[in-house]
Amino acid sequence: MTTKVKNDIQSLEDALKFYFGYDSFRSNQKEIIENILQGKNTVVIMPTGAGKSLCYQLPTVLLDGMAIVVSPLIALMKNQVDQLKARDIPAEFLNSSLPKKVYRDIVKKVQNGEVKLLYVAPETLVKETFLDIVDGIHISFVAVDEAHCISEWGHDFRPEYRAIRKAVDRIRKDIPIIALTATATPKVQLDIIRNLEIEDATVFRSSFNRPNLFYEVRPKVRAEEQIVRHIKQNPGASGIVYCLSRKKVEEIARLLVNNGIKAVPYHAGLDAATRTKHQDMFLNEDVQVVVATIAFGMGIDKPDVRFVIHYDIPKSIESYYQETGRAGRDSKFSHCILFYDYNDLRKLEKFLKDKPLSEREAAQHLLFEMAIFCESAVCRRKQVIHYFGEEFDEADCNNMCDNCKHPKEKFDATELVKLALKTVQLVDEKFDMKHLIRILLGRATSEKIKLFNHHKLEVFGKGKDYEEHEWKSVYTQLIIYNFLVKDIEDYGILKLSDKGKEFLKNPYKVEL
Ligand code: ADP
Ligand code: MG
Ligand code: ZN
Repeated sequence: MTTKVKNDIQSLEDALKFYFGYDSFRSNQKEIIENILQGKNTVVIMPTGAGKSLCYQLPTVLLDGMAIVVSPLIALMKNQVDQLKARDIPAEFLNSSLPKKVYRDIVKKVQNGEVKLLYVAPETLVKETFLDIVDGIHISFVAVDEAHCISEWGHDFRPEYRAIRKAVDRIRKDIPIIALTATATPKVQLDIIRNLEIEDATVFRSSFNRPNLFYEVRPKVRAEEQIVRHIKQNPGASGIVYCLSRKKVEEIARLLVNNGIKAVPYHAGLDAATRTKHQDMFLNEDVQVVVATIAFGMGIDKPDVRFVIHYDIPKSIESYYQETGRAGRDSKFSHCILFYDYNDLRKLEKFLKDKPLSEREAAQHLLFEMAIFCESAVCRRKQVIHYFGEEFDEADCNNMCDNCKHPKEKFDATELVKLALKTVQLVDEKFDMKHLIRILLGRATSEKIKLFNHHKLEVFGKGKDYEEHEWKSVYTQLIIYNFLVKDIEDYGILKLSDKGKEFLKNPYKVEL
């Protein structure tokens, strides 16, 4: 099948050059490949863009038989298969969306031993029909790409991913498994290893620092204007704007177009053809900006994405890291801007309301970590890297984050905290943040204020010196630092924690 001549391959470097045209391995790619060639279970944790695919793609051509690659998205598989084919490496993907004839042809190729890498979604892997297809074929190993999908503690949990071990066992019990992910929290790692039953795996991890990414969090005040301005100030610079909802994606895309910026929307509500078209337009630079939900980006390999903007707060630090990680793969300066507003937390929490309790708790926890990240005055890079279990010295950030570049001044917030908590107490811990802020700002226009006689409270209007978003920030920090708790059942209602009650009894100096 391969048309090139393999005579000159003496070393892994030769193979790398021969099949991929690269001169050298990156970070620990070589060690990983050697481990895989020895038939060992392997876990690869590397940041996005570091070159994980090569770790399993190169061994397949050097080993007998065919490797199976489990991948979560059709777009992702297609992308990789196309790239491999362009390098004369026989790769295919199988899924139910393929036309019958194409599907049958691929099955035939697989059975004739003409395929070195077969990409499948977990749903395909577990099917009886798939088992029949690979029956009698020597499988060199199974690579589980985006392996964090196994874990509920990751950012895009896919229940089907948890059935991989069982499916592999049905093919052959001793097939080596290679798990790859860019999500590195100890919890996710443990989940992957346990679920795939590869406790003996060699774990390879490389640093998660992306020194060329500038991290910045801005208050979500007139974010649309700021986005347009940023894009206009960086003419020709490719970028991605992430939004939570499809509706917002459409809105922002329209706004950009109306401002003369070449932009397209991307979300799961668009049909597959349109999505592919918009993705290609972005890759080919026919448009400057993609406005997208998180449906966009996995496996997108565009080296010169100069900015990633989060219009809404990401679901977790993992998501944030993944999504911002799509910027600056060429190692040049790139900008990551996140617009933060407490209301985003509530919107996301609302989505969680119907989920099973355990899932909801996990998701809330992840979101909470993200909120702390946004509110914190600590080096953003340190926070992200620390989250992944790596130590990081702030000095090494080189002022490549907002908090290092413009250190936030802490101020004595004792009086503000008193006022905020007092208000919670005076309304008997029965109201949400929005209402509490209305009281502090002295807004009597709300029906609810009059209904409960809250305009007669001593704190009514006492917070007028500060703006609404400043009070939001105070309340959010009070939740983060555990002076207040939010009732899980009674959504959004703020109650005093023991710490909050204690503070009201015996106030002490608090800095925010
Ligand atoms: P990941 O899966 O870790 O996010 P990819 O496997 O998609 O990253 O690789 C990102 C890019 O790096 C790809 O374009 C890939 O071809 C390239 N790449 C990988 N290894 C090397 C290497 N040793 N030398 C040069 N480029 C490489
Ligand atoms: Mg990858
Ligand atoms: Zn920093």
